[in-house]
Order: sequence, then structure tokens, then C-alpha cells
Amino acid sequence: MFRSQVESNLGEKCAVFGVHGFDLEVARLTYYGLYALQHRGQESSGIVTSDSKRLYSHHGSGLVANVYRESELSLLHGNLAVGHNRYSTSGSQDQHLQPIVDKAAGLAFAHNGNLPSVRLLEEFLDSHGVEHHDSNDSEMMAAAIGHYLFNGADLPTAVEKAYPLFTGAFSCVAIHNDTLVAFRDACGIRPLALGRLEEGWAVSSETCAFDTIGAAFQREIKPGEMVIIDSKGVRSRILEEGIQKMDIFEFVYFARPDSQLLGKKVNEVRRRFGAQLAREHKIDADIVIPVPDSGIPSALGFSEESGIRFDHGLIKNRYIHRTFIRPSVKLRGHDLSMKLNPLPEILMGKRVVVVDDSIVRGATTKKIVRMLYGAGAKEVCVLISSPPVKFPDFYGIDTPRQKDLIAATKSIPEIKDYIGCDYLGYLSYDGMMQATGIPANMFSASCFDGIYPIDIRERASEIKKTTLADYQPALFQ
Ligand code: AMP
Repeated sequence: MFRSQVESNLGEKCAVFGVHGFDLEVARLTYYGLYALQHRGQESSGIVTSDSKRLYSHHGSGLVANVYRESELSLLHGNLAVGHNRYSTSGSQDQHLQPIVDKAAGLAFAHNGNLPSVRLLEEFLDSHGVEHHDSNDSEMMAAAIGHYLFNGADLPTAVEKAYPLFTGAFSCVAIHNDTLVAFRDACGIRPLALGRLEEGWAVSSETCAFDTIGAAFQREIKPGEMVIIDSKGVRSRILEEGIQKMDIFEFVYFARPDSQLLGKKVNEVRRRFGAQLAREHKIDADIVIPVPDSGIPSALGFSEESGIRFDHGLIKNRYIHRTFIRPSVKLRGHDLSMKLNPLPEILMGKRVVVVDDSIVRGATTKKIVRMLYGAGAKEVCVLISSPPVKFPDFYGIDTPRQKDLIAATKSIPEIKDYIGCDYLGYLSYDGMMQATGIPANMFSASCFDGIYPIDIRERASEIKKTTLADYQPALFQ
């Protein structure tokens, strides 16, 4: 989704899912798939099905559990479906709902990712007289595909023709008549995988959703590839020769630990991040605790490697999500304590290592440190299982502007002083890459190194690279 120039909040964006198969309850399977992908977007959800002649849709704001009722699912007829969970960054929750439906073209389309530039799309739509006022990037992508469908192309051809206009990161699913397609940008920035059901096929942002619906993971959809699923089965079409550059932040924070990416289990990679962190930062401490949930695998890996005992020192309320009503100004001080509560009986008088996956603005870590001291910790060492986030994301994770990223404006000692801990250590860039077990050239690590493998075009002016350390982070860890 296009972030435009609005002030953005830290967030995570979007899951896509699709099912094709005769004699399958496609809407229900998609609902379960979206449930498994809830972590990728919590502001709205939608499912669109097709019986090959017409589309049936249901969308709503909030969590998957709140958006669908049995009676609504039962009206979503057909043998193919696409679904989407959205984290919105522009407009209100009720705007820009996905999957996008173009009734005239008979198209439903859903997008995970972000196009940093939409100039090509705008020019195309303007020159073909297609209205796009107030549209975001995903809606413009759907409009371009819809234009070709409306003019007689079949879905794979329409995607192929519109594809060169999509200047950015995208993992997409779409349906038209009896055909489902799933396609990815040439760098494969966001994940997208193909699964096999006994009587059909599924596509999903993450493999964890296949486990939920009883599908067998087949393979990742390749960068630049379109998979076409219809009554004849599954075919593949290469839209552009791709070079794999998956966003490493999927391993750091975004993906569920029970998913696999590039042949590696996310949980195992995160544990290795923690073990590497222990090799890089030799610390004397009594216990290591995670910031739940994102810090758990790395804290376990750290504990195994360092021999420091793992414990839970912070308990998370699992039912607070993005849709949670923000505290009023009067109660603002309580916002973190509504989410996390320390266990003084574990922390009292201890030298504590606390592990989290990342620091973005720094506000959360600062509050956690204060909370740990408040619960009686004698020393608090903060270890982060990724390098400093110095650059904003343009590919579908909604990070703040560069000036609001604490590591873009402060050195590590300055960040330590700001968050008020006894010790602050980050995982090195090279250590992170090595711990994945995947060649570094298969990743985009733009939020750490400022190298954007897909041209961010006019948005490049929003980035400042002032020091050599910004260009060669590994040398300065
Ligand atoms: P901050 O207060 O901005 O430094 O927030 C850092 C916390 O946000 C860490 O605990 C991370 O687990 C979490 N985090 C990192 N990236 C994201 C993201 N894209 N969306 C939501 N939370 C995130």
C-alpha cells in the first residue's frame, strides 16, 4: 500500500491468501488462512470468492475473528477465493479495504508490499482515461489489471501487460472467472508460497497458514514469477527474470516463527540470531528474559549459547492489538503497562539481560527498561537481535520517517543513555547475515544498510546517508 506523505505509525502490513479447488469450502479455508496470518495486519480483513461467473465479497474493520460471521461466510460461494488482512497507513480503517473488487472487470485483487513510486501507474491510468482519484498504490495496480481485462485479456495476460507499471515491492493474488493468479516482484521482497490441498491449491504470504488448513507446502513463488491456477491445474509464467532479495526484516520481526522462508525455519534463524548475539556480547548476568513475543526465540538462543538462565520476566496481554483503543492523554503513561507487566519475584535484585528483536523509535525499549528497574532489577542489559535500524522502509513495512528512527540520529552510546540501561548491544550486520544460513546477496537489508534493491525513485530524496558508517554498517559495529 502507498504510504503517500502522511505521518505514519510504526506498523506491519498485510497478508494475502488464496484458494482454488472444486468441492472445497474456499471461503472457510481462506478465513482460517487469514486467521493464521493475523500478525501481518490487524486493521481490516476481506474475502472475495468467485463461482466463475460472479464475485461474492465480505470486508470489515478489525480482527479476522470480528469481521466474519458464519452467516456471512456461507454467502461467499464458489470454488476460488482470495483474502487479505490489512494494516492501514493512509486513510481511516474503512478506506482502501482489500481485496479490491472491480465489478466491471470481474476482478478481485489483493496486495502485500508497497510501491514507493506510482508515477508510471498514474501516467498509464491518465492516458487511458481510467479514474484513480484518491486511489492508493494497490487500487491503481488493480485498475491497470482491470483495464486490460475489460478490454478482453484473460487474467494472466492482463497481469503480464500491467506488470511493468508496478514499480515497487508486491506479493499479490487475484481472481477472475475461474482463474487464480499469484505473482511477486522481481526481488521477491515480501514472501509468497504455494501449497497443495488434496483437492486443490492454496497460496499464502506465509507457510504457517498451510499448516492451519492442512495444505502441504510446495515451494515459494519465485521472484518475478506468476503462478496460474485454474481447472487445468497449476502453471508458471516468468514475468521478469528475478533476483531473490527478500526483506531480512521478515526473519527479524515480521514473519511468524513457525513459517519457513528461503528454506529456513524462522524460529531456528531467530534462535541463531540469539546465539550469535551471545558470542558478540559477553555479559555477566543472572537471567536472560525476552520481550514477548518477538524476543522469545532469540532470548532462548542467547541463553543456550551463554549458559545464562532463561526466564520470563515480562508477561504480555495477548489480547491487545492494533485495534486497541489508545489510552486518553490522562492515561497515556499506562499504555505499555496495559500490554506488558513485569514479574518482580523473578527480577528482584537480579542482573537482567533483556532481548528484543529491534529498536525503531526507542520509546518502547525505554519504557521496558524503566519497568524492569521498577520491578527491582539490579542491572539491565538490553540486547537487540538485529543491527540498528537507520533507514525507513519503502517496501511494505510501515516504519517511521528517517528522522524518527533513533539509530539514524544517535550513536549506540547515545541510544544507551536515552533508554537508560546499563548496557546496550546490537547484533552485527555480518553476524545477522551469517546466522540466517542464507547467502547475504539473497536479502534486502535496506532498513539497516540503506541499499534499496528496487529503485525507490523520487522517494530517494527522503533518505540521508551522512556518514561512512551508514554505507558500511558492518565495519562500525
Ligand atoms: P520502538 O518503540 O519504535 O523502538 O518499537 C520497537 C518495538 O517495536 C520492538 O519491540 C519491536 O518488536 C517492534 N517492532 C519492530 N518493527 C515493527 C513493525 N514494523 N511494526 C510493529 N512493531 C514493530
